[in-house]
Amino acid sequence: MAYQDLALYIDGEFVKGGDRREQDVINPATQELLGKLPHASKADLDRALAAAQRAFETWKKTSPLERSAILRRVAELTRTRAKEIGRDITLDQGKPLAEAVAEVTICAEHAEWHAEECRRIYGRVIPPRNPNVRQIVVREPIGVCAAFTPWNFPFNQAIRKIVAAIGAGCTLILKGPEDSPSAVVALARLFHDAGLPPGVLNIVWGVPSEVSTYLIESPIVRKISFTGSVPVGKQLAAMAGAHMKRVTMELGGHSPVLVFDDADIEPAAEMLARFKLRNAGQVCVSPTRFYVQEKAYDRFLARFTEVIGSIKVGNGLDDGTQMGPLAHERRIASMEQFLDDASHRGGKIVAGGSRIGDKGFFFAPTVVTDLPDDAKLMVDEPFGPVAPVTRFKDTEEVLRRANSLPFGLASYVFTNSLKTAHHVSNGLEAGMVNINHFGMALSETPFGGIKDSGIGSEGGQETFDGYLVTKFITQV
Ligand code: NAD
Repeated sequence: MAYQDLALYIDGEFVKGGDRREQDVINPATQELLGKLPHASKADLDRALAAAQRAFETWKKTSPLERSAILRRVAELTRTRAKEIGRDITLDQGKPLAEAVAEVTICAEHAEWHAEECRRIYGRVIPPRNPNVRQIVVREPIGVCAAFTPWNFPFNQAIRKIVAAIGAGCTLILKGPEDSPSAVVALARLFHDAGLPPGVLNIVWGVPSEVSTYLIESPIVRKISFTGSVPVGKQLAAMAGAHMKRVTMELGGHSPVLVFDDADIEPAAEMLARFKLRNAGQVCVSPTRFYVQEKAYDRFLARFTEVIGSIKVGNGLDDGTQMGPLAHERRIASMEQFLDDASHRGGKIVAGGSRIGDKGFFFAPTVVTDLPDDAKLMVDEPFGPVAPVTRFKDTEEVLRRANSLPFGLASYVFTNSLKTAHHVSNGLEAGMVNINHFGMALSETPFGGIKDSGIGSEGGQETFDGYLVTKFITQV
């Protein structure tokens, strides 16, 4: 089975070749060349903008039932093609095959949820002061959107933006992750085969900053949606603000985990170790700062380190692999910087600590203890398989430390006390609080951060909010 045929998707056509620049796509497990990704020329971006603008004029008037039918067909095709799309994600992103196929399969639900919710984009009637007056509020699609999605969940991050935009009646130009592009090309083929009219969805590739600047500055684009790092999100939001454009920002976090003495310590340690290493820790909601209460600390650390050390690292296509390589070489360099800083700050590496081999971007699952709160690993999101574990004494202290960073995406609490769970879930500054389990990113629940972690939510009832404008109509 060949790797995805990489292309741009503009105005309903897959295009590549000509004198377009091309970028190598590398398998992070073997460093072998998988394919060549065409970059959009300026003319391609202009064509995509014109197509999205033209398509918006008809798509915004399409009945929600028709939009819903296309999204349902996308869900069906997603399930049918999940294995082949998942295999290509393992090839260009590195995660184990089972994780990659699950990423795709679960996304069928995002298409279905939006197929249902787009039929419920209601307005309202406001009682008038004069009985001859009629006052209504309608919600209309905002227009042409530009979206930028990352490489860690290349299928999931892109489909969430696509189904929200087109479900609302908007049209979209999406730039996917150049490092791991197959999933986004596969998505274009799914929507194309499901009968989406030309121009409603357009996929482009290029130098990220050049493409985003061009699209955000275009007067055709009315809304920007980005998933990625906090610094890049701030740059794009500032640019969008200068042009008075709406934004949805799903940015990074540095998720605190609060393990109280009264929790089920060993099961919590095991669950957290496995969840931490999902997608090699390259997950924006990955548990990343482990605060464990004093009495439970030794037991937690022993079981956590044991499970972390037992995880089988290898090529994601091999049977039994539990953690694949990091997605690109930049991540290896980043892990090394975190650990250099940790050593200088008196940290103890109790598991892992270095790159594995010199072929492929493999890094050993790592646990670090005895770090001060201002060590790099405690203040910057590691976005990799490195876990700092530290102690705390009491609830108010741990809440203060958990809330001390500018981020506020996910947070985790392990306790058997209802009182503690209630108090801490009120006190944590985070967009999502998980108590004694991991329960986020479902199609029916809102996903998003507060503080520097972002603006707006994806999924849940809130999913269309960023793609709609409010219009008030009054009539005598
Ligand atoms: P990065 O900040 O260079 O890139 C992150 C993503 O943003 C990539 O997909 C990239 O193509 C895109 N990007 C970068 N500059 C852009 C621009 N000017 N315009 C549009 N898109 C742009 O970092 P990286 O090395 O690829 O990834 C590491 C960091 O990114 C991590 O530390 C993590 O915080 C963040 N990240 C977050 C998520 C998330 O789900 N929130 C996903 C991937 C990466």
